[in-house]
Amino acid sequence: MTDIDLRSDTVTQPSVGMREAMVQAPLGDDVYGEDPAVNRLESELALRLGFAEGLFVPSGTMSNLLALMAHCGRGDEYIVGQQAHTYKYEGGGAAVLGSIQPQPLEVLADGSLDLGQVAAAIKPDDFHFARTRLLALENTMQGKVLPAEYLAAASRLTREHGLALHLDGARLYNAAVEMGVDAKEITRYFDSVSVCLSKGLGAPVGSVLCGTADLIARARRLRKMVGGGMRQAGQLAAAGLYALDHQVERLADDHAHARLLADGLRASGYAVEPVQTNMVYVQVGERCDALKAFAAARGIRLSAAARLRMVTHMDVSRAQIEQVVDVFADFSRQ
Ligand SMILES: *Cc1c(COP(=O)(O)O)cnc(C)c1O
Repeated sequence: MTDIDLRSDTVTQPSVGMREAMVQAPLGDDVYGEDPAVNRLESELALRLGFAEGLFVPSGTMSNLLALMAHCGRGDEYIVGQQAHTYKYEGGGAAVLGSIQPQPLEVLADGSLDLGQVAAAIKPDDFHFARTRLLALENTMQGKVLPAEYLAAASRLTREHGLALHLDGARLYNAAVEMGVDAKEITRYFDSVSVCLSKGLGAPVGSVLCGTADLIARARRLRKMVGGGMRQAGQLAAAGLYALDHQVERLADDHAHARLLADGLRASGYAVEPVQTNMVYVQVGERCDALKAFAAARGIRLSAAARLRMVTHMDVSRAQIEQVVDVFADFSRQ
């Protein structure tokens, strides 16, 4: 029995086509700027998202860190969601390594930050305060898509106040596919964007940071400093290129599977939050450990949390989703 792993969309195996593309990639030393696939991935994604340049990095965490450090200096401040990955789940890297002060704000139910609160949090030019330099948004945010009008309003606000606007677009393509738009329609509002290749896109490793030539030059220097300069990284970049060419549109299947899962669980009486993309949040309360063990005994890997997150991805089929629905129904009848 193959496991059905719903803990995250990071758990995917490279597809057959992706493995072939990886094996065939010609390699060079990327620290010398000589790896063909890395160079192609960086310029290709930058072009697709409307930026001058891209930078291939080992992880989304490093991508966000380099963006924050390239936008902000020591003693500068960035405004960010209390529940945002860059603030909550990256080891405080911007503070530890960049001496950048976060100004966290509560994230609203729709995944956005209240722009009135953002404006109020921007510090006046006064030596008592840190210099507010940047607003960082996340899209999708816990599976929720930020509306285009909101992005436009955030862009206007940051421009008016001379702030830069960064997008943690780990799941940018989930948002674009769900909105039915070209990803550029989302990224056009931002000064920099970080995209994960290793989430729903199905590559084994890597993220790309996109921005102006100046910003990427600073980020490239910082990448070397934090040990992210990779050598013959072309096999990983080839996986990323393959994902961008062949595994974007199929994200719609993951979204359909997430809806199917949510509907099935609701039919068994579970309290399921509305689903927009590939994440399903269910209130399971204190039965979370029992549920995790019950599911594990039936080949389903879950996280254990009172507000349980399940993530659909390319290695979970429709038939497997139906299996999961049945297992949850059995558990609820116990
Ligand atoms: C996964 C993720 C990251 C970080 O990516 P890693 O490659 O795991 O470091 C950043 N932001 C968001 C929203 C993510 O989901």
